[in-house]
Order: sequence, then structure tokens, then C-alpha cells
Amino acid sequence: MNKGEITKVSGPLIEAKGLSDANIYDVVEVSDDKLIGEIIEMRGDVASIQVYEETTGIGPGDVVVSTGRPLSVELGPGMLEKMYDGIQRPLEKLEEMAGEFLKRGVTSKPLDREKKWEFKAIAKQGAYLTGGDIIGEVEETSVITHKIMVPYGIEGKVKEISDGEFTVDSQVCLIETKDGEKSINMIQNWPVRKPRPYKKKLDPNTPLITGQRVIDTFFPVAKGGTAAIPGPFGSGKTVVQHQIAKFADADIVIYVGCGERGNEMTDVLNEFPELIDPKTGESIMKRTVLIANTSNMPVAAREASIYTGITMAEYFRDMGYAVAMMADSTSRWAEALREMSGRLEEMPGDEGFPAYLASRIADFYERSGRVEVLGENREDQGSLSVIGAVSPPGGDLSEPVTQATLRIVKVFWGLDYDLSYQRHFPAINWLKSYSLYQEKMDAYIDKEVNEGFSTNRKRAMSLLQQESSLLEVVRLVGRDALSDDDKLKLDITKSLREDFLQQNAFHEVDTYCSLEKQDKMLDLILFFYDKSLEAMQKGLDLNKIENLEVKERITRAKLVSEENLGEFENIKDQIVKELDHIEKGAN
Ligand code: ADP
Ligand code: MG
Repeated sequence: MNKGEITKVSGPLIEAKGLSDANIYDVVEVSDDKLIGEIIEMRGDVASIQVYEETTGIGPGDVVVSTGRPLSVELGPGMLEKMYDGIQRPLEKLEEMAGEFLKRGVTSKPLDREKKWEFKAIAKQGAYLTGGDIIGEVEETSVITHKIMVPYGIEGKVKEISDGEFTVDSQVCLIETKDGEKSINMIQNWPVRKPRPYKKKLDPNTPLITGQRVIDTFFPVAKGGTAAIPGPFGSGKTVVQHQIAKFADADIVIYVGCGERGNEMTDVLNEFPELIDPKTGESIMKRTVLIANTSNMPVAAREASIYTGITMAEYFRDMGYAVAMMADSTSRWAEALREMSGRLEEMPGDEGFPAYLASRIADFYERSGRVEVLGENREDQGSLSVIGAVSPPGGDLSEPVTQATLRIVKVFWGLDYDLSYQRHFPAINWLKSYSLYQEKMDAYIDKEVNEGFSTNRKRAMSLLQQESSLLEVVRLVGRDALSDDDKLKLDITKSLREDFLQQNAFHEVDTYCSLEKQDKMLDLILFFYDKSLEAMQKGLDLNKIENLEVKERITRAKLVSEENLGEFENIKDQIVKELDHIEKGAN
């Protein structure tokens, strides 16, 4: 039987009996309202079902029907610029995020069935295609060409194909397979909990450039890489995620607002459409999909939301794009998992989280990567980078979600309460954070931007590391106990912190910094250091160096516009001149 009857309701979890033909992970329709649920446990003919909608008014005796299909998303033209909830129901308006506006059980289709797309055939009649091969293209937005691919599992000869205007559900291609003719339209359905296949995973080799100095210069993430941002409340996780969503040089951004306050998604909705992508000159929404499952929406749908998001992300990766996915916050997702596990009365592990927490987190991040995409006739690559915020209670990194995440991700941006308290933003602690991609990314930037880049970067980090012990000395015995060399060193590290690491997300110019500018800024500070050292060796007073007028220009260098990077040479010239001048004056 695929039809059963509710025996018990416990919040978002219900139990139903009589479902002998249903399977774990089947999607079910609950009650006459047809609420959407998913079977998460089967014992005999009794199913435990998580329901993705409010279950008030549902009770024992109500009918449950299994659809026999796993929880899936619809993939095809029309996802970009959209906002969806955790199970891919389109959210048209802001108010819908309040939850109560979501009419239960009423599901409009994720992809518009009315809209006609201009389909351009790519595959030729008679060509032999396999899953992943490109049939044709649709200009989905002014910046993204949507590749229509042969669904996984289908292969054969193209029998019919033609250009034209089509809705997503009409046939664009007929393929003769060994099991008969298969009509292909522009929709692919894919079960969200199953990674989409590819030919081969490759090592990430290029940086995902975020325009955030502390990230790109010191703790870079690769295209196809993984990063986590743990930090206490108010330390800047969401701002970092937003900055990356706005500025990263990804082709596609999938932003999942997961269990956080609704007003943060409201900010996204207000801001993102106004923002212009430096790469295309168009609104960044033209390459973005938003998934909102805020704290006031049903908890089970939150559990699903990151799978919905990553499945969409994989689909765009399969087109050969560089995709970046953000999840804010994976802790809220893990809490949803914990809540469902508790209601199932599973044996709790660490801090009440289920024992499978770590493997779920690992499985999720494993879906990232740079890959050779599927398709016999294709040789291109796509990448999927995943960046997850983690909100450890009280900022305590030893808790299970943070620990499980750090075991799997390759980049750790540790946000620091003290730094955010001092309004040092982004509050990424430069002594605790790390990136395991650094070496590869250094090689890339040295080659593409400036061969001296990595040398400068290492030198700057070494200075910052020395700073903490120097500051300890200052704390104990006072600054006067330091040699002039060490005092100068502290001047420079202060400059590195304030003029380079600090970056104001809300300043028109400072909000984004190209790699070229990052390189020049770092180079400028170190140039000033070297020239000052030289001058001091010639006997110049540290005081005089500290009072140079040009220091103001170094401080303001972060506000030099991207069109005006020649300015950095001028500042360097001024450093030389001013030092020359006081040297001469001193003699
Ligand atoms: P979290 O998500 O960790 O709770 P938020 O990202 O909401 O924290 O950041 C809290 C506040 O910190 C922001 O509203 C903003 O005032 C400030 N902030 C964070 N990052 C920056 C930044 N890069 N530049 C300027 N202000 C920032
Ligand atoms: Mg936040």
C-alpha cells in the first residue's frame, strides 16, 4: 500500500501506518491539504515522516499518500533571479517569508510553465549524445546562458531537434535510445540528497576571488573549494557571506539563508538587485538564486534547504560554470537535524546531535569540487565552491558542528569576538585562520598578478606573527623598552592591520578590492617599511619617520579607486622624496 493513516503527530514529525509499499526518503502528501513530507524512517509499515509545513490541525486518522518519489528539485531555465523556500517553492514576495503567508499544501511549480524561452539547438540531428551532453542553449538572463543538457541516464541518437520558442515542459529534442524514443524537455528532476554525477574530480587550481583582502591575500579559497566561517553572534558571518555573494568572481551564486533571522534575507532582497557585478555591469541577481528558510519557517524544510541549494549549484556546475554556494548558517541546519532526531527518539550523541551529524556534514561539503563535467562530447570543467557559516553557541569552537565542519573544510576563517568588539572588520583572526589552498593560490597570483606577491604575503604574515609577542613585551614593560627597529615594526604591523586587513563592507570603494589593488597595497606598506629601515640605518630618527606626511596617504590608499591604481607609484615616489628630504635636512 502506498496509502496510510496518521497515528501520531509531534510537531513537524508525524507517524503513519499502512504504508507497506513506501520507501525511506519517499515524498508523501499528508492529509487532504496535501502537505509535503518526506519519510525519514520505516519500521514495517509504519513510517516516520518529516513534514515541511505547519502541522497544526493535522491529526490521527488523516490520510497519507506516498508519491513513490524522493524529494527532488526541478532544474531548468527560470531559476536565476528567483527566491525559493527550502523545498524549492517559489517565494514571490517578501511577506511570504513570514511563513503564515505560505498557503499550506498549495504548490506552484518551481519553474514557470507559461514562459517561453528562445531555444537554440546545439546538437545536430544524428549525433550520438550521452547524459550531460549539451542539446541546446537558452539565454536565461542577460549574463547567463543556460545549457540544456541530456538528463543523466539517457543516451542515444538525436532524431529531432530544432530552434524555436518553447516552454520548459515542451519537447526540444527527441532521442532514439535503445529502449525507444525519449522526448526531452528543458526540465530535469533530481533527488536533492543524491550528488549529481561528473566524470572526474580535479584538484582546485584557481582562487575564488572575493575582493576581500584578508581572504584573498591571506586565507584564499579555491574555485571548487570549501570554507567555514565560525564566529559568535554579531562577529560578521553574514556580512562576509554577503560580500562573497556580491563580489566573488563566480559565474553563479546560490545563497541559502538557513534558519537565521528573516530580516537578513530582506536585506539581501533589497540590496542585491541594486548591486552591479563588476564583471558584467549587470545586477548581480542575474546570476543568483536565493533560498530562504528563515527562523520563522518550518524546521524540517530548513533541513532540506541546503540540499535543495547544493543540487541547484551542481546543476549549474554541470553546465561548466564556476558556482559559489553560501549557507548561513549550517548550525541552524544542524539544529533542525537535532530536533528531528530528538523527535524520532534516536540515541543522542554529543550535545544532543545525532551520531550521524559528522557524516552528514562531510557528505554535504563533499559535493563541492572542480570537476570534469559529464557528457561524452564534452571536455569542459565546472566548479562548485561551498562556504558555510557556523554559529557555535557562545563562540565555543569545541562544539560538535564546528568540530565536524573543521575536519572537512580546507579553509577556516575564524571570526573573533574581540576584533568585532574593537570594530576591526572583517573580524577574521589572522593568527588563527588558515587556508590549505594557499600554496596553489600563491602560485596562481604570482603568475597572474605579480611575481612578488607571495613573498610579500609571507613577509607580512611573519610581521603580524611577530607583532603579538612584541605587544606582549609592550604590555609588560612598556613601548620605550623596545628598540627603534621593533618600534618601527609595530608601526608597520599596525598599518598592516588597519590599512590592509580592515576593510569596510559599507564603504563604496573599500567594499571590493581587486587582486591587483591588494597586491599594490601590501607592496606599498612593505616598501614604506624597507625605505624606513634604510633611512634608520643611515641614522634617521624614528620620530621623523613616524611624522611623515605620506603616512596619511598610505592609510587612505584603500580608498584609491580601481581605475586609478597608478596612484600607488605616486605614493611610493612621495615616500622616497620625503625620506630624502628629511635625510638631507638632518645632515
Ligand atoms: P553575524 O552574522 O556573525 O551575527 P553580522 O554579519 O550580522 O554578524 O555582523 C554584525 C555587524 O558587524 C554588522 O551589522 C556590521 O555592523 C558589522 N560588520 C561586520 N562585518 C563588517 C565589515 N566588513 N565592515 C563593516 N562592518 C561590519
Ligand atoms: Mg548572521
